[in-house]
Amino acid sequence: MAESPDLLKYYRLKAGYEDKLAKKKRAIMADRTLSQEEKRRRVARLTGRCPQCKQPGGLRFTRKGTQLVAACAASPQCDFTLTVDRGNEENIRRLEAGVAGEVKRLESDVIRTKLDLLFGYSSQAEAVAHFDGLRPRLKTVGDRLEELRRRYWRTVTRSGDQPALKTARADLAVSRAQLASMDPEAAGAARTAAAVYVDTIRPLVEKIRRLKYARSAVHVEQSEDPAEEVDVLELEPYTLDQLMVPSPPEDD
Ligand SMILES: [Zn+2]
Repeated sequence: MAESPDLLKYYRLKAGYEDKLAKKKRAIMADRTLSQEEKRRRVARLTGRCPQCKQPGGLRFTRKGTQLVAACAASPQCDFTLTVDRGNEENIRRLEAGVAGEVKRLESDVIRTKLDLLFGYSSQAEAVAHFDGLRPRLKTVGDRLEELRRRYWRTVTRSGDQPALKTARADLAVSRAQLASMDPEAAGAARTAAAVYVDTIRPLVEKIRRLKYARSAVHVEQSEDPAEEVDVLELEPYTLDQLMVPSPPEDD
């Protein structure tokens, strides 16, 4: 997964901008001095600010072909733009769907060729020649599909992290057993327990979370009742960036 630094910069800019907007929205929703009507009106009018000219109006994110563009949307507009070429990067899920469709198309071509031969619409020689062209193409596309699916599976299941995760869980079980077997009456027991917790258990729990989730953050979310806020632990086993893979060279 070759990620250009520019592409990451673009995604970070976009995520940071959207986070800020979401934060403003939450602040409006949490303001108890506002009526529901007023909250709705303010949220609808909400805009971010351009990072360069700091003017309201914010940024506009657009896509032109393979170019991702972030530009100032304030009025008047300043010259802030960030253009990155998404070029040969594509979302693996979209890619998979395209390749799977191509496999299906080739497979029905095989069936059609067989039927044409069977019903005498084509000669044996024609059918063989057509098969000779189809077979390697089907193999190439089939292999590509398998590789994509394997890669997708690895990313979403984080199977590369599984051995480290297993070790961390075993270490955690040992520390917990050590705590459980301690004599609470013994001198310094509380201090030892605290040390085990701070030095071993807490870092292990953190490590396990890092291995299991590509992104974890706590954010405050508004519940149905606007006066009430809930802390939500946001855990993402994989991030969008990780699903970006180089797309194949165009060969048709
Ligand atoms: Zn601007």
